[in-house]
Amino acid sequence: MSADQVQDEKKQGQALLTDIRPENTKKVYIESYGCQMNLNDSEIVAAILADQGFNTTHLMEEADLVLVNTCSIREKAELTVRKRLEKYNAVKRINPKMKIGVLGCMAERLKEQFLEEEKMVDLVVGPDAYRDLPHLIEEIEAGRDAVNVILSKEETYADIAPVRLNTNGVSAFVSIMRGCDNMCTFCVVPFTRGRERSRDPESIIREIGELAQQNFKEVTLLGQNVDSYLWYGGGLKKDFDKATAEAQQNAWDFADLLDRCATEFPKLRFRFSTSNPQDMKEDVLETMAKHNNICKYIHLPVQSGSSSVLQRMNRQHTREEYLALIDKIRNIIPDCAISQDMITGFCGETEAEHEETLSLMDYVKYDFGFMFAYSERPGTPAEKRMQDDVPEAVKKRRLNEIIQKQQASSLYRMQEMVGKTMEVLIEGDSKKSNLHWMGRNSQNAVVVFPKTGTETVGDFVLVQALECTSATLLGNKC
Ligand code: SF4
Repeated sequence: MSADQVQDEKKQGQALLTDIRPENTKKVYIESYGCQMNLNDSEIVAAILADQGFNTTHLMEEADLVLVNTCSIREKAELTVRKRLEKYNAVKRINPKMKIGVLGCMAERLKEQFLEEEKMVDLVVGPDAYRDLPHLIEEIEAGRDAVNVILSKEETYADIAPVRLNTNGVSAFVSIMRGCDNMCTFCVVPFTRGRERSRDPESIIREIGELAQQNFKEVTLLGQNVDSYLWYGGGLKKDFDKATAEAQQNAWDFADLLDRCATEFPKLRFRFSTSNPQDMKEDVLETMAKHNNICKYIHLPVQSGSSSVLQRMNRQHTREEYLALIDKIRNIIPDCAISQDMITGFCGETEAEHEETLSLMDYVKYDFGFMFAYSERPGTPAEKRMQDDVPEAVKKRRLNEIIQKQQASSLYRMQEMVGKTMEVLIEGDSKKSNLHWMGRNSQNAVVVFPKTGTETVGDFVLVQALECTSATLLGNKC
């Protein structure tokens, strides 16, 4: 591929891809589903493959290798992947040289079964085995199927600089840890992503430094449970007590990492996800309050407003403890936006327990949320030990009730911001009009305002909010 072609490719995909190498002759197409961790993992995969002669393309038809990074959190997510596999195989019938691979949580959950069951894939790779891709690709290029779904206690891909995919060139994800040690009974993550391990903070700082040099303006620190971040020279969190006194003394927790990032990169804005109510400490809130460049927004999943349901979910906190944390957040950071994850219709959920979820939402008045009906997942403690006994119609009705309640709270929170002047990071054109910019304020609210010709993507500008919907603030640049 000539340098001009690369320039054209870059010009085409400027806003989409980084690191197109002229010497690379093969193309990989990566489709990602699920959480932000998966999006970031796809960027790590793209980097590993770039060293193996692959450039990333957004045109599936021209790809030598098609990879789908999968989610297993709900049945619907897996059905989506099965439909995509049919699509890829239809393209493969036109281009038989093409190889197809499945990555991520569904690959980890189904393992070899995927190859036996689905004669539609050549490659199955779990979230901790992406370093093995070069060897696995040799296997499939030699006509053999290839699988690696080994979970690791060390792997954090700390030394790999991700290739930014689908990026707006303004905000990027940086993973700080992998896996989860909690065992929420409805969740597949501990089985598909393994034990918790934190990443070396110096490698995190290095990656953020590279992003700053590439003129990125916002970084989201990622982990299944960022509040559980703990670095003491490598090793699992559960073994911390066995570490030397010196190692314990010099350990980094999440507040230390957040403080260092905000201090070292004052021109960058920081977000993080996902927090966990049972592990969130006050020093994280103090650190957020101390730094203007740490966004005043926390995604704090609750899953249910009922202590009895939380107990069946094996969530290590009660309704009361969660509400006390909400009060503490609002006390230390009065303008902090809070969002939630909620599951309705969990095993045995009564109408009274559902009402407790509604009343908790009345109390918190979340800025926004992600709400789903319980979807039983194979292999989870809930599937093994509990009955998925709430009828689908009841689940649906309860889900509609909490979605409506959330929409009312979102509008209420947005209306509170009308009239205020706020700092907005411009991410790009508004979806509805290219005469308007779209960006986000510190509270992660979407703000849309008319272009004035003196600002561009990546600028921080002051905007006064004049009106709103439940999802968007509309205003003018000051
Ligand atoms: S904290 Fe619970 S819900 Fe979240 S990833 Fe871990 S096990 Fe799953």
